[in-house]
Amino acid sequence: MNPGLIVLFIILAVIAVLVIVVLVRTARTKAPAPGERLAPSRTAAEQEALAENFARLIRIPTPSHVDGRTDDLESFQKLQKEVEDLFPKVKDTLEKVTVDGVLIYHWKGRHPEKAPILLMGHQDVVPADPKGWTYPPYGGEIHDGILYGRGTMDDKCNIFCQLQAVEDLLKKGFVPDTDVWFAYSDNEESSGGGAQKAVDWFRAHGISHFAIAWDEGGAVVDKAMAGMDRPYAVVGLTEKGYVDLKITARGAGGHSSTPKKDTTVTRLAAFITDVNTHCPFERKFTPHVRAMFTNMAPSFPFGLRLLFSNLWLFEGLLTKLMPSISSQAGALLGTTCAFTMMKGSDASNVIPSEAYVIANLRPGFTQNAKDSVEALRKVADRYDLELTVLKSRDAAPVTSTDGKAYKYLISCIQRRFPDCGVSPYVMTGCTDNRHYASMSDQCLRFYPVRLTDQQLSCMHADNECVSLDALSDAVDFYEDFLEHYEG
Ligand SMILES: [Zn+2]
Repeated sequence: MNPGLIVLFIILAVIAVLVIVVLVRTARTKAPAPGERLAPSRTAAEQEALAENFARLIRIPTPSHVDGRTDDLESFQKLQKEVEDLFPKVKDTLEKVTVDGVLIYHWKGRHPEKAPILLMGHQDVVPADPKGWTYPPYGGEIHDGILYGRGTMDDKCNIFCQLQAVEDLLKKGFVPDTDVWFAYSDNEESSGGGAQKAVDWFRAHGISHFAIAWDEGGAVVDKAMAGMDRPYAVVGLTEKGYVDLKITARGAGGHSSTPKKDTTVTRLAAFITDVNTHCPFERKFTPHVRAMFTNMAPSFPFGLRLLFSNLWLFEGLLTKLMPSISSQAGALLGTTCAFTMMKGSDASNVIPSEAYVIANLRPGFTQNAKDSVEALRKVADRYDLELTVLKSRDAAPVTSTDGKAYKYLISCIQRRFPDCGVSPYVMTGCTDNRHYASMSDQCLRFYPVRLTDQQLSCMHADNECVSLDALSDAVDFYEDFLEHYEG
């Protein structure tokens, strides 16, 4: 036989085998049918009464507090007073501590010798401009089974649902197995020091370890990704770091009537274009990102299922394609860089002798903050730019999915949300949880609230809202978690 034909035959045979392997793996990855959604434990009227109570917290605006400004504390004190009025049994039974605007509660368990657990939330909210809202952001109005307002999702919902669960359990005479602590900071949204103040307070009072440090993060999302066949509960195992950089160009300034081609501004512009066109950071599927996609693959539509259930073959292709298809998916593969602020000269007819741009990096999960800065510095050097680190913090350690706490949380999710898939995931945003990395190796980030993808898009945006049945389910979730937890 012609040698060329033999080669062609071999190539075709290899392709045929690959196609068969890929199709078999895809077929095997199909998930069994999801379970039935649990019937709501509250009637519609009871859900509305619950939401009305929650609305009392929404009606107290608590824009994120700036460290050191005590005049901002008044709104937080008002909110804390409302919390006491809403939960009289919590007030009578739990020990309350305030550290400036931070609110801490201590629920004593039956076994003080066991490691305590910590549930978190934050009292502050991002600003809301009423112009874009259908209903007033601090009105706490209910329409068609949905409560609207700033903080309904992020993050007063967690505070309300956790303490409502405690209130309900106290009514039943329940005492938790271990000590349970609750810590609600006052400036999570402005990356303030509230959570650190709580950490310092815990250490000063002899508490240096939590069996679980559980904060906001992943949620129960209707369509976590397009085309998924069921809602997914995603539990954040880590969160990215944060770096602010100033990149400065220096050179000859002058009158704008006789411009040279190469100015401080053109060098900065070329640098920005370079970084945006040729990503200088390492991109790859880290084990936890691979675990996330492998976990979710069974619920993807056929095309995506084929790709993600055959990462052994398509990983390289996906690493290249994902950042251009979805910025969110791209951010999972490594450090990102966004240019956020710029300054040139003070006059429109003056070429600046100094111009700068601020870059915000989110380092992780492939490179730490230092390596990410160095990668960017190499590009900056090519354009003769100075690079100054203004702020830098690494990604949080990754919580192991083999840990007892993670497994317990997953079992609660499977029990309370049987119609949903469950998956670990990695957060590209930040939470207060990072401050507790030195106090717990089981830092979990999960918000037990069902959200539609539309609701999810209202986080930090106009028309933030929560469904009344989701609110009721979240209270039940916390109750179930606390009632069955054994240290
Ligand atoms: Zn939040």
